[in-house]
Amino acid sequence: MASLVVDLRSDTVTRPSPKMRRAMAEAEVGDDVYREDPTVNRLQERAADLFGREAALFVPSGTMGNLIAIKVHTRHGQEVICEERAHIYNHEMGAMSAFAGCIPRTVRAEDGILTWHLISPQVRGRSGHLAKTGLVELENTSNLAGGSVYPKEVSDEICDRAHTLGVPVHLDGARIFNASVALGRSVIDLSRKFDSVMFCLSKGLGAPVGSVLVGSKPFIEEAHLIRKMLGGGMRQAGILAAAGLVALEDGPARLHIDHGNAKFLAEGLAEIPGISINPAKVVTNILIIELSGTGLTSFEISKRLAAQGVLANGVTPTTMRIVTHVDIDRKDCERSLVALRVALGVRPKGVVA
Ligand SMILES: *Cc1c(COP(=O)(O)O)cnc(C)c1O
Repeated sequence: MASLVVDLRSDTVTRPSPKMRRAMAEAEVGDDVYREDPTVNRLQERAADLFGREAALFVPSGTMGNLIAIKVHTRHGQEVICEERAHIYNHEMGAMSAFAGCIPRTVRAEDGILTWHLISPQVRGRSGHLAKTGLVELENTSNLAGGSVYPKEVSDEICDRAHTLGVPVHLDGARIFNASVALGRSVIDLSRKFDSVMFCLSKGLGAPVGSVLVGSKPFIEEAHLIRKMLGGGMRQAGILAAAGLVALEDGPARLHIDHGNAKFLAEGLAEIPGISINPAKVVTNILIIELSGTGLTSFEISKRLAAQGVLANGVTPTTMRIVTHVDIDRKDCERSLVALRVALGVRPKGVVA
């Protein structure tokens, strides 16, 4: 259904489906700080199963999930190696430094996809001068690099090599289900070598709130304590976990639609003068478009789009992010392309001077 406002700012803006709302209303609950919420327990068991792990922990946000993982894996004063555009580095309020006492060591990689070749020169062992590498972190899909996906062989190699040096590897899998759909491989297959995985229920899977950490039993036991310390111990959270269970059941099977819409947008955008985007690189639900050729800033273009009921955010003055999700259909995409042409003052498609 085409909506009044086309909101392409993020896949976090989705509203719970009627099925989710019913499940929430009917959820059996208990006090989850006592680990007595049956619905939270079911969600955690389901998540652990889906990822082939011993245990899982429901957390209020992806940011908290990543922070807990960093805190459990590292000690104060250690470095966390991540890509320059990583969410943990750019969009989590410096939490790894503020709470876990870690320093990010960033590496730039094409399309946000790190390789062991890029990481290995940055790894630091025991030394009288250098901060030790406490953790390597990968993001799949890579949000600010345009939803790019790690080839399984590349992330597997990074995990194997890091482990040889005694360095754990955490996966920010906020959108790991998008990667799974894009590659046609299970999330177990893509994530089995990581020491811990965080994934979001509240992104493409469509749940209103929540993320999940998965890992070994000892890791999740530690994670429990840190979650409480951070104020993330929730009580009758089964209300939220119920929506999460529906998201896990129904979400992954429809992500290919979002990917198709993103590809459609990419192809349409590539035809607009001043916009630079390579549709071949759009493989999931995120597009980062380059706007320097338009002579306008992304923020000005955002304003002009908003005036037409289309929402998209500038990331830098010359780039804009567009995200497809369950509340965006093909008509919304068509409307967005028209709005962008209007915003830039270029002719509608098919109209000859
Ligand atoms: C959204 C997101 C997170 C977590 O964000 P929250 O808003 O805290 O749930 C983490 N990593 C990536 C790559 C994300 O896109």
